[in-house]
Amino acid sequence: MIADLASVRWIHGAPDCAQSDDPLIQVIEADPDTYVLRISKCFSFEANFIYFLLGAERAILFDTGGPADSGNRALPLRDTVDAVLNAHPRGDSLELIVAHTHGHRDHIHWDFQFRDRPDTSLVGLTLEDVKAFWRLPDWPEGVATLDLLGGRPLTVFPIPGHEPTHIAVFDPRTGILLTGDVLYPGLLTVRDWPAFRASARRLSRFAATHPVHMALGHHIEMSRTPGRLYPLGATWQPDEHPLPLEPSVIDHLHRACEAMADAPHSATFDTFAIEIMPEAEASLRGAW
Ligand SMILES: [Zn+2]
Ligand SMILES: [Zn+2]
Repeated sequence: MIADLASVRWIHGAPDCAQSDDPLIQVIEADPDTYVLRISKCFSFEANFIYFLLGAERAILFDTGGPADSGNRALPLRDTVDAVLNAHPRGDSLELIVAHTHGHRDHIHWDFQFRDRPDTSLVGLTLEDVKAFWRLPDWPEGVATLDLLGGRPLTVFPIPGHEPTHIAVFDPRTGILLTGDVLYPGLLTVRDWPAFRASARRLSRFAATHPVHMALGHHIEMSRTPGRLYPLGATWQPDEHPLPLEPSVIDHLHRACEAMADAPHSATFDTFAIEIMPEAEASLRGAW
């Protein structure tokens, strides 16, 4: 039984970060083998979520977070991950994989902390690296499986469009679908519209044919007031939208994309907003 992630009180920044005594990383045990970490908004306004899933023989970390907004403070991610494993009955015996939903800097920056860690592999950042590691030669088609063992085979499939190496990850044990920066309660930026539209369709089809209980993304930028986003760069979000999204929101994203079809435009909905980046418009016009 997984904890109710919708009712977790996440760290969410402070009116004055100099006065904040939030930890740099909050760790929530969703179940004894599933951890959700959040980076403090007072460290990085992106305040990424990080997911740590443990199987019988392998553990996998999705994303390593971004640099500090100011100064050269270090994020204690490796220490946090090691502390979780040290406290876990199988922690000593697990091989660690450090992987990414995609290659944006706020998802990969602290990879280097794991480079010298024993029994640890880091997934590379190029599209070739990602295709090879997950065994997805037909990118962006195809579906791959990575078995953490102990009844935890993860399903992975490509969802480019926000970023070219983006993947979705389904965990059958918990019913969690990790949707990275393609779907979360916030501003979804699109750099390749045809790819993003196809990825939204792929997510929707997957959710319709698998026991997906919730989509979990890697940021929160929407408030509890439908359609009201916090300003970009906000370091205090006192009334955040819950992290988990119902499967119906996956379908909503797909329908919103299909309604725009070949005329994408920025639009705000209750749970998310879509922002078409200039290069996506340029590519539709055939500028490159
Ligand atoms: Zn991103
Ligand atoms: Zn991000």
